Amino acid sequence: MINPITFDSPTDSLDVESLKKAIAYKLMFAIGKDASVANEKDWADATFLAIRDRMVERWMQTTRAQYSQDVKRVYYLSMEFLIGRALGNALLALNLQEPVRQALDEMGIDLDDLLKEEPDAALGNGGLGRLAACFLDSMATLGVPGFGYGIRYQFGMFKQRIIEGKQVEAPDTWLGSVNVLDFPRDEVCFRVRFGGRVEQEGSKIYWLDTQHDVLAVAHDIIIPGYDTIATNTLRLWTARSTREINLSKFNEGDYFSAVAEKNVSENVSRVLYPDDSTYSGKELRLRQEYFFCSASLQDILHRYKLTHETLEHLPEKIAIHLNDTHPVLAIPELMRLLLDEYGLDWDTAWGYTSKIFSYTNHTLMSEALECWPVDMLGRLLPRHLRIIFDINERFLKEVEAKFPGDHDLLRHVSLIEEGGERKVRMAYLAVVASHKVNGVSELHSELMKTSIFADFARIYPDRFTNVTNGVTPRRWLALANPALSELIDGAIGRTWRVRLDELAELRDKVDYPQFVEAFQAAKHANKERLARYVARTLGGVINPDALFDVQVKRIHEYKRQLLNVLHVITRYNRIIKHPEKHFQPRVVIFAGKAASAYRTAKMIIQLINDVGVKINNDPRVGDKLKVVFIPNYSVSLAEIIMPAADLSEQISTAGTEASGTGNMKFALNGALTIGTLDGANVEIQDAVGADNIFIFGQTADEVETRRKNGYNPREIYETNRELREVLNQLANGFFSPQEPERYRFLFDVLVNWGDHYQLLADYQSYIDTQDRVDAVYAKPDVWAKKAILNVAGMGRFSSDRTIAEYAERIWRTPSVKL
Ligand SMILES: *Cc1c(COP(=O)(O)O)cnc(C)c1O
Repeated sequence: MINPITFDSPTDSLDVESLKKAIAYKLMFAIGKDASVANEKDWADATFLAIRDRMVERWMQTTRAQYSQDVKRVYYLSMEFLIGRALGNALLALNLQEPVRQALDEMGIDLDDLLKEEPDAALGNGGLGRLAACFLDSMATLGVPGFGYGIRYQFGMFKQRIIEGKQVEAPDTWLGSVNVLDFPRDEVCFRVRFGGRVEQEGSKIYWLDTQHDVLAVAHDIIIPGYDTIATNTLRLWTARSTREINLSKFNEGDYFSAVAEKNVSENVSRVLYPDDSTYSGKELRLRQEYFFCSASLQDILHRYKLTHETLEHLPEKIAIHLNDTHPVLAIPELMRLLLDEYGLDWDTAWGYTSKIFSYTNHTLMSEALECWPVDMLGRLLPRHLRIIFDINERFLKEVEAKFPGDHDLLRHVSLIEEGGERKVRMAYLAVVASHKVNGVSELHSELMKTSIFADFARIYPDRFTNVTNGVTPRRWLALANPALSELIDGAIGRTWRVRLDELAELRDKVDYPQFVEAFQAAKHANKERLARYVARTLGGVINPDALFDVQVKRIHEYKRQLLNVLHVITRYNRIIKHPEKHFQPRVVIFAGKAASAYRTAKMIIQLINDVGVKINNDPRVGDKLKVVFIPNYSVSLAEIIMPAADLSEQISTAGTEASGTGNMKFALNGALTIGTLDGANVEIQDAVGADNIFIFGQTADEVETRRKNGYNPREIYETNRELREVLNQLANGFFSPQEPERYRFLFDVLVNWGDHYQLLADYQSYIDTQDRVDAVYAKPDVWAKKAILNVAGMGRFSSDRTIAEYAERIWRTPSVKL
């Protein structure tokens, strides 16, 4: 028996004096600096370490409670977690913003300066990764026993710079010398095997002679719940070579190849793939996916075994959620562990597996659907390929029994795509093995059942469901928008942070001129804050009295930043043609990264910048129109941009954006949406009222019909005079006189090559709707009331509601009692 060690609990010392001492202590003994020489980074690290101590106790308490109550745990497997900065969020969660501000202030340090020192943890591309981060926040806040599992990329999302109008990528070196964010767990370490061959002996199958094995080492990140003891864990894996260096080569004096092997095996956690919405089929990516699935599954079973003698309660005690298909190898990996390592028979193993997994689909677009070549999979993971074949055989038998003689159906739903190179369809494997498959908005979930999974919806009608996405109000309102938060607190109290539905009480406030005025003042202050950021980083001056028209998100053709540009150019042409006319001054703001290999997306970035140069320097335009591309879109940048927006551009081709979450963040911060009936825009319209949103363009059905009936964009080009002028300006180098052919390609995409995303079909409706936007904005009070009604309507879009739905309907995980 070890005597309990007593110490002064940091949780008891949350007053200013204790915080001062704690920070000064960390500065000296953890950072090793004297206050007289410490820089801001040192102070930031010291502060974070002091706060982290105050989270650890809650963390242990939660973990102990989870064990003693033998809770069901949910494991959220995701290749991406776009968490952003953690310190500000921790201070908010622990209600320490004010005491820490004061403690630092008394030592001559400004908290806001320190917060900016922290690099974003950018372990994700965009919406999918940010959703995972919002979910972690909500799981902790609701006390859901949830664990995130992912990869600790050495290099996260690349840093974007704009040089001569073009995107230039630089590596994201977010891991500094002091990593306050995570606890390395060298002892939590699993071997992940690759290659080799399978051998059968009776009914037993062995996976032998694997090569290039690698060790997965855990790093734990604390996820504090808001205003609760409940604290969860995000466990990220990093790769370590099974042999530090090859000793025989080292002895031979071949130092370079002695370490080369180590480097190769450790590459698996080196870098985040910067693709968004496209699947690239690279072997290293497959290795990454298996690496983190295998380590996570071994860890999950290990934790279960700590407190359970047998596997019989496995499906009652664990739920595993697949964030898109990237972690789908977890399915054959669980089967492998149960069959080969734990000696279960197939039916028992499959019975467990199919109760444990659930899967979220994030896209209907074919170019994003993962299909791994059978050859590659067989070479890298021969045992798993065998298991996938076995799953498929049994599945097809089941289908045959249910729909006898329907051979087309068998071919369509087979997990293996035949004809040409044989491939494994990962989304189908996810559907077959999961007890629930969900889409992320009502529209998307419906389309899922009639398009990519139509056959499966016949086979498993009860498997498909919807859980509309949400965002955490802690980061996206309380943290990002103190001005508006304070106003809301004064009007309806502070509890909206955990019960976002309470925002509905703001509806009545539109009749109070004082409230409306204060709301306008908060928006204006946020616009000034963004204008200062733009002035500081880009040197350009933007007028906070203009309408801020904002489109920030990954750059992708389906999101149609190009449609936005067509409007900008149209507006420019009108201003030039009618110098006498009044125009509502606008600042059109873009931000977003393009996948490094996505040529068209990069060209769109360059076009935005070229158009900006032309318009911003044309003296005839003046304040009437400005175009700004803010480089390096990230969570931290979004926190500055969202609160400053008047107009939120959500203009994807209907049927392509599964949900969107940017749309929710904007509306929550009092921007009005101009958007198509796509993704969650449909539900946002229901929530805020049709009068308070600008909907335009074709519906998903209309897009589909037009596509079927033979869409002819050239016809639109030839009949719409204003549009024709704009497109001709692209084609003839009006915006790129130094290289007139630069945008000929974009012209061709739209006019001659089928305009896949139907920009031209939606153009006139978009322009007309933008005119309506101007008319409403001209009446500031009318606009402000609509903006308030947007905020008031956003209760449903809290990720707390989303997570409560998952926990109740899919994972069946009650909250831990604390
Ligand atoms: C919310 C968010 C996204 C997702 O934006 P969409 O408009 O839904 O595509 C992408 N990146 C960052 C940094 C975000 O915060």
